[in-house]
Amino acid sequence: MEIKSITPALSVAAQMQVQDFGIAASQGFKSIIYLRPDNESNDQPAREELQAAAEANGMSWAWIPVVPGQISDENIDEFGALLNDLPGPVLSFCRTGTRAATLWALVEAGKLSADKILEVTAAAGYDLSALKGRLTTVSADQDDSVPSVGRSHDVIIVGGGAGGLACASSLLKRQPDLDIAVIEPRSEHYYQPGWTLVGGGVFDRSKTVRPMVDYIPKEATWYQTAAATFQPQHQALTLEDGQVLGYKALVVAPGLQLNWEAVKGLKEALGSNGITSNYHYDMAPYTWELVQSTRKGKAVFTQPPMPIKCAGAPQKAMYLSCDEWLRQGVLKDIDVDFCTATPGLFGVKDYVPALMEYVKKYGINLNFQTNLVEVDAASKTAHFKQTNAEGEVSDIEKSFDMLHVCPPQKAPDFIAKSPLADAAGWVEVSPETMQHVTYGNIFAVGDAGNMPNAKTAAAVRKQAPVVAENVLQVLKGNSPHAVYDGYGSCPLTVERGKIVLAEFGYGGKLLPSFPNWMLDGRKPTRAAWLMKEKMMPWLYYDAMMRGVEWLAEPKILPVSPAAHEASVALDCNRDKK
Ligand code: FAD
Repeated sequence: MEIKSITPALSVAAQMQVQDFGIAASQGFKSIIYLRPDNESNDQPAREELQAAAEANGMSWAWIPVVPGQISDENIDEFGALLNDLPGPVLSFCRTGTRAATLWALVEAGKLSADKILEVTAAAGYDLSALKGRLTTVSADQDDSVPSVGRSHDVIIVGGGAGGLACASSLLKRQPDLDIAVIEPRSEHYYQPGWTLVGGGVFDRSKTVRPMVDYIPKEATWYQTAAATFQPQHQALTLEDGQVLGYKALVVAPGLQLNWEAVKGLKEALGSNGITSNYHYDMAPYTWELVQSTRKGKAVFTQPPMPIKCAGAPQKAMYLSCDEWLRQGVLKDIDVDFCTATPGLFGVKDYVPALMEYVKKYGINLNFQTNLVEVDAASKTAHFKQTNAEGEVSDIEKSFDMLHVCPPQKAPDFIAKSPLADAAGWVEVSPETMQHVTYGNIFAVGDAGNMPNAKTAAAVRKQAPVVAENVLQVLKGNSPHAVYDGYGSCPLTVERGKIVLAEFGYGGKLLPSFPNWMLDGRKPTRAAWLMKEKMMPWLYYDAMMRGVEWLAEPKILPVSPAAHEASVALDCNRDKK
């Protein structure tokens, strides 16, 4: 372990192992601040073990889960408060030490000059020059100074999730010699749609994670770090470690941010006292444990305000739980509540009748416009704000034996604060071409974009080829020519063995992949279940991630979408005359 001194009161280090804490104590450190979120990578020791080792060596312990590249104002305030309050000297660590050094720099912004801060961190081995703008303005705004660009690539893709990697493969399929870089801090790639089946006892969670290195195309350069800020006016972006990269075209695909903190008491409570969530890799197995151990009492399933990824997932967890309880003959002894912040059960009305059949079959109490705001783990009580038809809001509470929570979701902080964002924080793009409305060489794919589609991997499967086509057009100096119809899909697992397969596009238009005689998505079918259980993991890992565009050929317009829109407008005006 290499300890780097920032000030006499604070030193920083890369990931510590359990045995390192004795060394830290012997060097006089009194407190530890750990900065990595749980489950950031597979080689990360369990946080509980690290805390136990710190405390066993007589040091105070604090934890701030700082998402790489997404240092929030709250993170900075909390770090500053801990430096004030904890007994010193303090040792803070993350994956490389960069987050710790950066947090110190941001705490000191406005107190010390930017040059001084950068001199101190550089002496400790951290080049944070990319932070200069943020340090100077003493705000979380973007850096407007002209960056000194290091390496450049034809295309940079931010995010190695479903959208980023599908797009990288689709680009390389079309132009194998394209110089692509992927920015992705994680060592693991998650197949998130599988987590519903983990929570339903169908999949082991190991089926939903694979090494990132196996899925980043070999031809691409992988920067295993986070993107921090964008300088689109200079065709550049800055990484968390301060490196500045240039690009000809940029694809933004960092997904969305689960906002566990928005529900008071939730984060600390997850994983104990009957509180779980399939939205967390570590928690999905606990959902299944709870389903098996709950034999009577109250079960509450929650859904936050939209937008969320896979809007059906909160219900899927509930139906699979009820199905198991029915099979075990205990459902009659369990009161099941669905509390959703939305005004209805599902956004596309064609699928509601089939879902309502299951709501009746399982005896589920539906509570609309009922938003979870607080969880009291000790008393096993969930607190909600409920809005009635007149718009009046009241506080209600529900006790539970099992609580499955879908967390509130938002755009990643580093996107929301960037010049790429719309007022709500999402990357502001055309819903058809996914080209940024201001910066023509920037595109979004996946959950981070502000396209009004259902945020799903199924949507990404159709978006990635469209974005690949359009990026290549832009690189040739042409306008985008491929369009996305808003397709998204939600396989609602209404019972073990049957699925209501919702497939729809913009405006709720049904877009079934198969003719009704083969598979009618408005009815529960075994065929759709077999697809989800047996075929989808293959389709995801071996087709979508590899640039095989099965049932996802992009629609190419003979003229550019902009020209198409202009000619439609011209025709309309002619008609009016
Ligand atoms: P992600 O796949 O989440 O990937 C984002 C990537 O960006 C991550 O690897 C992250 O580490 C990286 N990143 C974040 N910040 C940075 C940064 N600063 N710099 C660089 N990289 C960064 N979809 C379906 O189609 N069908 C389903 O049945 C389904 N069920 C679901 C069930 C659950 C419980 C969940 C959680 C999701 C489900 N989904 C489903 C949704 C689907 O998984 C997402 O919509 C899809 O993964 C979105 O892809 P993405 O690339 O936008 O984001």
